[in-house]
Amino acid sequence: MRRRIAVVGAGPAGLTFARVLHRHEHPVAIVERDPAPDARPPGGTLDLHEQLGQRALDKAGLLAEFEALSRPEGQAMRILSPDGTVLRDWKPRPDDRANPEIDRGHLRDLLRGPLDVQWGRGVTQVVPAGRGALVHFADGRQEGFDLVVGADGAWSRTRPAVSPVTPRYTGITSVETTLDDVDARHPDLAQLIGDGSVAVYGENRSVVAQRNSDGRATVHAQFRAPLNWHAHLDLTDPEAVRSSLLTRFDGWATPILDLLHRGSSFVHRPLHVLPASHTWTHVPGVTLLGDAAHLMPPLGAGANLAMLEGAELAEVIVADPADLDEAVGTFEERMWARAGRWATITTAGLERLVSPNPADAVALFDDVQPG
Ligand SMILES: Cc1cc2nc3c(=O)[nH]c(=O)nc-3n(C[C@H](O)[C@H](O)[C@H](O)COP(=O)(O)OP(=O)(O)OC[C@H]3O[C@@H](n4cnc5c(N)ncnc54)[C@H](O)[C@@H]3O)c2cc1C
Repeated sequence: MRRRIAVVGAGPAGLTFARVLHRHEHPVAIVERDPAPDARPPGGTLDLHEQLGQRALDKAGLLAEFEALSRPEGQAMRILSPDGTVLRDWKPRPDDRANPEIDRGHLRDLLRGPLDVQWGRGVTQVVPAGRGALVHFADGRQEGFDLVVGADGAWSRTRPAVSPVTPRYTGITSVETTLDDVDARHPDLAQLIGDGSVAVYGENRSVVAQRNSDGRATVHAQFRAPLNWHAHLDLTDPEAVRSSLLTRFDGWATPILDLLHRGSSFVHRPLHVLPASHTWTHVPGVTLLGDAAHLMPPLGAGANLAMLEGAELAEVIVADPADLDEAVGTFEERMWARAGRWATITTAGLERLVSPNPADAVALFDDVQPG
């Protein structure tokens, strides 16, 4: 029996869910708030783990295309101390496919493929109704479905239909900037970053720069600060933000400061999380995927989990169970258990990466990198 299904959000979770359904010829309405695929910059790069994101791509029949687009060399990682001393310089073996990088824009285009996304259809509310749910759109229209899947990220409008919980600020914030055409315009910084990432950990702060595929590099300055740390700063003024960051990282080696100094524009991303064990009493007709269900620190797991969950939920649906609700409920239990483990790991990881003792961060790298 074909159920009327909608997914809210065309991020990694929603698109993987829809793509696996599409592969099995099951229709799905994909509703996305952005007015067009290129309405905002797609963001930096994601590493997709063999056992998570890559498994999801395999379920979507997209693994070979991913391998052509991804950058295994992007797994390279260099760690410096704030005075510029190289502490670690790890390069992957040529055949290492454990966590290759892919640009978010490339991943989105790969997943989107033939899917028919309804752009510019922001959802304001999802209301359970009988054994299904009613979706309220920003344009005032409403539509009913047998199942509404909230894959609408950290500030999900679907989440309140199943849970009253909202994200909390971790006490750590991040300011992101970009270096364009890094090899030609900033060859010294291109060399510093290498093929993958360079990370520098100081007391309660860090700078991480990561290479993307199109000659761009993204740079993140992370530090502990109250949420209103910028109360006297105009975040829309790049010069003011740059100068504030350079003061905050004062004393660090010049090449590291140059990563911030030469950035073109700055985006503030305070890090919020949901509780590590976020669960809810199953609500017929509504479920959540990805960040909407388990927002966690950005330590390389969120998109991976979002994609695998999307693929697994689609598989549950195409298996055509007699009782869809029971099947979704079983899926949720599995999602919660796995996401809870990762939330605990990444929360502890963030505390070590932006900690009073920078040696903790280097030790964390030693714990996770193969020799
Ligand atoms: C700096 C940074 C680096 C990261 N690096 C990694 C990494 O290397 N590996 C990794 O696995 N994870 C990484 N993450 C985490 C990862 O980005 C997220 O976990 C992932 O994007 C979650 O996917 P999602 O589809 O659940 O949500 P999102 O990517 O947030 O997508 C949600 C979609 O829903 C849409 N939407 C929102 N509200 C509405 C609405 N009301 N109506 C309709 N549509 C709506 C949004 O426009 C968006 O398209 C990183 C995060 C950050 C911030």
